[in-house]
Amino acid sequence: MEQRSIQAEAQERIFVGIPAAPGIAIGPAYLFNKREVVVEARRISEAEVAAELERFEQAVQRAERDLDKISSVAREKLGEESASVFEAQRLMLRDASVYDRIRDYIQTHRCNADYAVAHVLDEHIRRLEASNNAYLRERVADLIDVKERLIRHLRREKLLSAVDPEHIIVAENLTAADVVLFSRRGILGCATDHGGPTSHVSIMARALGVPAVVSLHGLSDSVQTGDLIILDGIQGRVVVNPRPETLALYRTRQERYRRLLQDQQHLIPLPAETLDGHCFVLRANLELIEELDLLKKFGAEGIGLFRTEVLFLMRGPLNVSEDYQLHVYRQIVERVKPNPTTFRLLDLGGDKMLPIAHREHNPFLGWRGLRVLLDRPELLLPQLRALLRASAYGPIRILVPMVTALDEYRRFQEVLEDVKAELRARGEPFDEAVPVGIMVEVPSVALMADLFAEEVDFFSIGTNDLTQYTLAVDRGNDLVAPLYEALHPAVLRLVKHTIDAGHRHGIPVSLCGELAGDPQATPILAGMGLDEFSAAPPYLPEVKRVIRAMQFREAQELAEQALQCRTASEVTALVNAWLQEHGCGLLQYMQADEPTAGNGRAEASSLQES
Ligand code: PEP
Ligand code: MG
Repeated sequence: MEQRSIQAEAQERIFVGIPAAPGIAIGPAYLFNKREVVVEARRISEAEVAAELERFEQAVQRAERDLDKISSVAREKLGEESASVFEAQRLMLRDASVYDRIRDYIQTHRCNADYAVAHVLDEHIRRLEASNNAYLRERVADLIDVKERLIRHLRREKLLSAVDPEHIIVAENLTAADVVLFSRRGILGCATDHGGPTSHVSIMARALGVPAVVSLHGLSDSVQTGDLIILDGIQGRVVVNPRPETLALYRTRQERYRRLLQDQQHLIPLPAETLDGHCFVLRANLELIEELDLLKKFGAEGIGLFRTEVLFLMRGPLNVSEDYQLHVYRQIVERVKPNPTTFRLLDLGGDKMLPIAHREHNPFLGWRGLRVLLDRPELLLPQLRALLRASAYGPIRILVPMVTALDEYRRFQEVLEDVKAELRARGEPFDEAVPVGIMVEVPSVALMADLFAEEVDFFSIGTNDLTQYTLAVDRGNDLVAPLYEALHPAVLRLVKHTIDAGHRHGIPVSLCGELAGDPQATPILAGMGLDEFSAAPPYLPEVKRVIRAMQFREAQELAEQALQCRTASEVTALVNAWLQEHGCGLLQYMQADEPTAGNGRAEASSLQES
């Protein structure tokens, strides 16, 4: 008996990843295996050719029906923009370079349709992978999707749409299409080995309200379909084969989270004001126009960060003209006014696609953000024109990404002045006083914030990058994830330095990294005097709850102490005790009954557990 229980406990494994979309899901896993489809060539006789062509035609028709379904769900849930990705895949199916070539191949080589599909599409894939154009390289994922969809239909394998509802999807990686389709099937959550909080799967999961954890390193190798798992999208954990006590604990947390969401409702219309009347502004980080409803739902006062690169990523830079951008920006501005929309200029490079191929050894230290924009006027100028034109319809702010030096920013200012002059000459109305701010996301800018503050209208601190550059820890690298400490005193000192410099020069300071949505950081940031928090909308009510539970003076004292800490764990202990005293904070609330580390903790979790 004793033996059995030890064995049962040893099966529980905890994986720590990155929370991508909040919520707690408990249910059986569905292992979605996207590994290479192996296709073997089979010779067919002349007499079999017609039947093979017919088999191919049937597979194409079924794939078309699939993609129609996916596009219509995407359109309904996420809007036109997202649907276009799947419509493009559908068009590929009948494109002569795919459809006709596959038929020709079957006829001339007298081989099975599966092999012809793989051969023709692999050829396209190889060509695109080698392309100089990053947009074309991005399309590789679409072609792989099309290939695998066709082959699965030819083999009449269980297709994605047949995934049982009420399962938690576990995968090495997922595409936007997968998440849309899964959400339609009523799945409980998504857990992936790779991906970061700003990867497509995370963005889609948040927009669709599907709890998700990414960067779980090795999870998909440790799970079988049907294994019971717990997915905690708040803390970013997955527990495989939980012990009965862990299960009971998470059932309580799940219920608690449900009540918390209900309870948040009363916070939505209230101001983010401390007990002694100090007010903060809470704004939203958005990526998709379809997420606009979330502003009202979670009580955001405008948009603190609109990552425009997602627009380009969805359509490809070649399809995002000035007029198209104006059309999108105008809709956003009109829906968000009288609150402002902060549009961040295209932030390419790093882990985001580049418009022009450029292999770099250290992309995060390479050609990204403002550096790309200054080198590529064909991207910067239309975007500036579109944004300025949109400013005629409501308040906007322009945010410049990845600034690293003052002279770089001055060059940008010159370009902006030229664009304004051009619009004036064209008689286009725009707001002459559009505020222009910079992302403070590299240490050089934080350290020189006093000088930048003389030349910009606002600061937005990007702690996602600021942390990686300050601590020399790649934000997307699983191996060093435990070293990526968002509450590291070095980062906090740079944040404080930036806030003080901004205030000395009378400009507002916002923070739009993930830290802004983390209730653990709220009292410290508030105590440092931050003016605006900008986070993914679902995180805002908890930030507000913390703000409304404190005196500003107490938060100032806490921030002072945090700045004197020597390590991130000292800061965490300090703030946890503080939150406990104040009886608030989502994480605090969910962690109140934290289990002690189990015997069966997976290697992956001990590697990543901080
Ligand atoms: C940041 O770096 O904190 C930020 C908000 O920008 P992104 O995450 O898009 O790099
Ligand atoms: Mg950044």
